[in-house]
Amino acid sequence: MKSFDPASNIQDLLQFGEYGDVNPSITDSATFTFMQAKTMADTFHGETQGCFLYSRHWNPSNKYLSDALAAMEGTEAAWVTSSGMSAITCALLHGVTSGDHIVSSVTCYGGTFAFLSNWIKKFNIEVTFVNITDLVAVKKAIRPNTKLIYTETMTNPMLQISDIPALSKIAHAHGAKLIVDNTFTPMIVSPCRLGADITVYSMTKFINGKNDCLAGAICSTTEYICSLIDVNNGTAMLLGPALDPMRSSSILKNLHTLHIRMKQHSYNAQYLADKFKTIGLKFIYPGVPEHSGHELLKSMMNPGFGFGGMIAIDLITAEKSSKVMEAMEMKGVGYLAVSLGYFKTLFSNSGKSTSSEIPDYIQHEMGLSEGLIRFSVGLDNDIERTFQLIKESLKE
Ligand code: PLP
Repeated sequence: MKSFDPASNIQDLLQFGEYGDVNPSITDSATFTFMQAKTMADTFHGETQGCFLYSRHWNPSNKYLSDALAAMEGTEAAWVTSSGMSAITCALLHGVTSGDHIVSSVTCYGGTFAFLSNWIKKFNIEVTFVNITDLVAVKKAIRPNTKLIYTETMTNPMLQISDIPALSKIAHAHGAKLIVDNTFTPMIVSPCRLGADITVYSMTKFINGKNDCLAGAICSTTEYICSLIDVNNGTAMLLGPALDPMRSSSILKNLHTLHIRMKQHSYNAQYLADKFKTIGLKFIYPGVPEHSGHELLKSMMNPGFGFGGMIAIDLITAEKSSKVMEAMEMKGVGYLAVSLGYFKTLFSNSGKSTSSEIPDYIQHEMGLSEGLIRFSVGLDNDIERTFQLIKESLKE
């Protein structure tokens, strides 16, 4: 069977701009005219497809980007949002009502963890956090009122691998839906093709790759996306986190180079992992056979994009990690900054930054070392030079 190729799917999508423009023109309008009042009324009732009525619902520039994302994911549809968090929170809130229950990976982005452990409580929605790689624990956590299982393909920051086909079977056997955040592994894994119901992204990261804006996406069936933007009950339509069309247009252009960038991010991270092994440095990278999720990731991957650009090293103490990060910044390895998927290497101490919302005792339980530095490896042309700079910095 021919393997799924997200990059060729984007390439094959022909999008002709209004005037034959190769980059479709930006629709710089919040609202849209109708020539017949009835068409407007029908559009509001959801009876007319393909009409643009208001940009919080659809905008042509957002539609071009959404169509390209759906092609990449192999889903029927997608909808773009103003940030990754708005994609995640809309997808979560759209799947539950008061009294429902969610099972979530305990290792997930700190903002998602905070939303699920603190914020969503006020709507009487309970969340059980589990080690998502422990499928027995996932099954045990399911209750009659469980409506969603939530995970990240490659979890932040522990880089565990979620077994998407197995999780989807568990979810579906109990009438629940599986939502997967695929922010770390675009192109590499296509969660909806593996059984996930909804794939969410922070496009702020690899998909855009330029660190010049925030954006997110939700990919799923046409039925789901239509319900998400329904004028009466759609969570996205009513909470309103629409993406600015100017940004959609620039992200669409960047999407067309994503496959090349992912290959280089992966090549560089794999190179560093192999070198870290030779110097006996403690690290986590799913591209090495010693990683417990290596074979699983291999079984889920689309060929040719590598194991991703995220790698973590463990320097045991926060003090040591601070010294090394400062040295790495001064030597030009990259920037001491949160976020990921940028053309330059970014690194931060996860426990003190993007996972600081997770209480210390839970960080400890999930094995998150206080000396863990998460790297988003950049597009460096000479990665051996970068390795030498990291090695020098480790002496600090
Ligand atoms: N998902 C993951 C895995 C992330 O790392 C982040 C941010 O760091 C988000 C979601 C949130 O995305 P945004 O910052 O675009 O709202």
